[in-house]
Amino acid sequence: MASTEGVKIHPAVDNGIKQGNPSFAGGTLTCKCATNPVKVRITAQTAHNHVCGCTKCWKPQGAIFSQVAVVSRDAVQVLENGDKLQVVNKDAPIQRYACTGCGVHMYGRIENKDHPFYGLDFVHTELSKDEGWSAPEFAAFVSSVIESGVDPSQMDGIRARLRELGLEPYDALSPPLMDAIATHVAKRSGALAA
Ligand SMILES: [Zn+2]
Ligand SMILES: [Zn+2]
Repeated sequence: MASTEGVKIHPAVDNGIKQGNPSFAGGTLTCKCATNPVKVRITAQTAHNHVCGCTKCWKPQGAIFSQVAVVSRDAVQVLENGDKLQVVNKDAPIQRYACTGCGVHMYGRIENKDHPFYGLDFVHTELSKDEGWSAPEFAAFVSSVIESGVDPSQMDGIRARLRELGLEPYDALSPPLMDAIATHVAKRSGALAA
């Protein structure tokens, strides 16, 4: 088995996973600006929290994974300094609203009603001081960390560390989310009854 010594994933999981509180009902996300930070209120518990190795999600300095969860778009409300937000890439399926001051992504929104995850926003719960957010459950797009410059020889150690943390590594999304995407596609094509 590969050595997991010194392998860093993300500051929110490197010292072990903090369990969520099932009765938690949301909190406030704050960007990293010292003055006039953007504040976003989330009025629900998040779901499908995970660490993500893709190159698109916002990551804290030095981390090779992001930590990202979903929540209903109705539960996301910009409270303060929303004028600092700008969409990173208007052509991407997920419109990531980033702070122009500090670069943090405050939420990612899907505007295409045919997208399998339409209605869900992507948020980084580490931006909140509130405790009780749903715990990360798996690791998505693990092989993609190589695209950010991670040496391929480190992958065995990274996957071993993720398993040690209880974050099963996948090179796409988790099976329940991949099944949800395929079900959406099958219902649209008529292969499954809508
Ligand atoms: Zn900011
Ligand atoms: Zn990602």
